[in-house]
Amino acid sequence: MKKEQRKILLKTDKPILDHTEESEEEIVLNISLRPTRLSEFVGQPDIVENLKICLAAAKQRKEPLEHVLLSGPPGLGKTSLAHIIAHEMGAKITATSGPAIERAGDLIGILTNLEKGDVLFIDEIHRLSKVVEEFLYPAMESFQIDFVIDKGPYAKTIKFNLKPFTLVGATTRVGLLASPLRNRFGIFYHLDFYSVDELTKIVKHSAKVLGIDIQEEAAQEIAQRARGTPRIANRLLRRIRDYAQVARLNKITLEVAVKSLDELGIDKAGLDEIDRKVLKTLLESFEGGPVGIESLAASLNEEVDTIVDTIEPYLLKAGYLRRTSRGRVATRLAFEHFGIKYEKQAELF
Ligand code: ADP
Repeated sequence: MKKEQRKILLKTDKPILDHTEESEEEIVLNISLRPTRLSEFVGQPDIVENLKICLAAAKQRKEPLEHVLLSGPPGLGKTSLAHIIAHEMGAKITATSGPAIERAGDLIGILTNLEKGDVLFIDEIHRLSKVVEEFLYPAMESFQIDFVIDKGPYAKTIKFNLKPFTLVGATTRVGLLASPLRNRFGIFYHLDFYSVDELTKIVKHSAKVLGIDIQEEAAQEIAQRARGTPRIANRLLRRIRDYAQVARLNKITLEVAVKSLDELGIDKAGLDEIDRKVLKTLLESFEGGPVGIESLAASLNEEVDTIVDTIEPYLLKAGYLRRTSRGRVATRLAFEHFGIKYEKQAELF
């Protein structure tokens, strides 16, 4: 393949930098890449172990599973776990999201359609409106909802019994959840970033599902540069598969993986363009910090939420950034990554 051809191919791709949104292609392909059973879910061993016990106990009692709250950065498997829970319980799943439920009426419609044991998955549950959220409390606690009919002196409250169901809520910001809502979940799991070994396993499995041959070292390279996130690992694999296909290669070798990852702007440390932009701004415009998140977001022309939900967690975890009482601070690793001399200001840490 000619170099320009390759460039065009990579340029017209979905930007690798978008950590949250999924393209049509991904939604379709994820159906096959998404694990459907707990035994296929790689990593998060403590969660898997605990969930196994909870599922077995609920099945023995012939009761729905308690409500489950899943938190963690995007792409770590919250939606997959919700689907797995439904599958393992032999139940139907209804999926929606906090911002999609605008009025209490929307929620009534969803809740009254649930059958016994069904799973209701609400993604971004921290974005439910206050009214809708309060409506959810009795539904979660005693499987009842209160309708108010008529107004003024004729107003009457009618209780409506729901069939027992399991609510699975997912959030990237558990801190934004009101405590009465948080307390109504019987099971709470926080998903953490994946190790390189776990991501290598995911990449190899996805390659098999997609029908491409991949060298062990190539899978490891992708895993190392995937920001600890299965969704990104799968996305990188698909881009490299396109590259290999156009170049008429029948196997993804280490060389192909390295070349395409470099072209996609993922550096050796696994940071992408947005990560580098955030760190560079912190280093160059704010001399490494400390700087408040609002000022940092304003200089980057980004939403605070985007930085806090999708960019910062990995930079914190990988040790490029620190949160201090006075704001965000770049670490030695961040200075060294860009070849800038590090002068530690002891009072900041
Ligand atoms: P979230 O809901 O946390 O944003 P998803 O459940 O949508 O994340 O995961 C994104 C994709 O990553 C899934 O479609 C699946 O292909 C992959 N994935 C996530 N977690 C795992 C895992 N533990 N094992 C295998 N693949 C996973």
